[in-house]
Amino acid sequence: MLKTKPPKPRKCAVCGEIYTPVRINLKLTKVCMNPGCILDYAQGIRAKEQRKLERKQKKEVKANKVALIEFNKKDLSWQHKQCQTVFNKLRRLQEFKWFYDRGLEPTCISCGKPKGNDTWCNGHFKTRGAQSGLRYDPMNSYLQHNYHCNQNLSGDIYGTKTTHGYIQGLKNRFGEEEAQKIIDYCETNTKIVKWTWEQLEQMRKEWNKEIRQLEKQLGE
Ligand SMILES: [Zn+2]
Ligand SMILES: [Zn+2]
Repeated sequence: MLKTKPPKPRKCAVCGEIYTPVRINLKLTKVCMNPGCILDYAQGIRAKEQRKLERKQKKEVKANKVALIEFNKKDLSWQHKQCQTVFNKLRRLQEFKWFYDRGLEPTCISCGKPKGNDTWCNGHFKTRGAQSGLRYDPMNSYLQHNYHCNQNLSGDIYGTKTTHGYIQGLKNRFGEEEAQKIIDYCETNTKIVKWTWEQLEQMRKEWNKEIRQLEKQLGE
């Protein structure tokens, strides 16, 4: 027959009373037989486990985020999407500055009118689809009404019954000769540029820097 030592008295982990364990698995016995202590202790363990699980989940979410950033970084279409947004914002600010420096109210390249109840966008002369190499070229994009002229009139390059259009807008702003230079430059720059993700990231960094400076200057 196995000789078993009688269990030694212990101090209850909850109430601090000294008790003598009666459980078979002594390792698990940390509290006295008081139901309140048993419940309290069990809840404590559950809460601890819950916290542990939450910490683990948080860690996993963070790791996934990091992995996603790493994945996106090398994804060219993701990079271009980010870059286009930042470039368009930069160009809008550069345009505001251009008008501001001349003491003029900003106007749309296609219709020559102020913002009104529209919003501003950076309107490309040559579209990204037609000449992707010019998508980040300041010579190819100017301040434009987002809805009326960019979206509804597809940039309004040649004008309508009531608007002079993009080409005439360039001439109005920069004069015949300078406008022709811009148009010729855009017409002839048809080469496809293959940016790497590293280049795009670098470009974006510099644009963001310029955006912060312009925002400061313009008090936005
Ligand atoms: Zn107790
Ligand atoms: Zn317009």
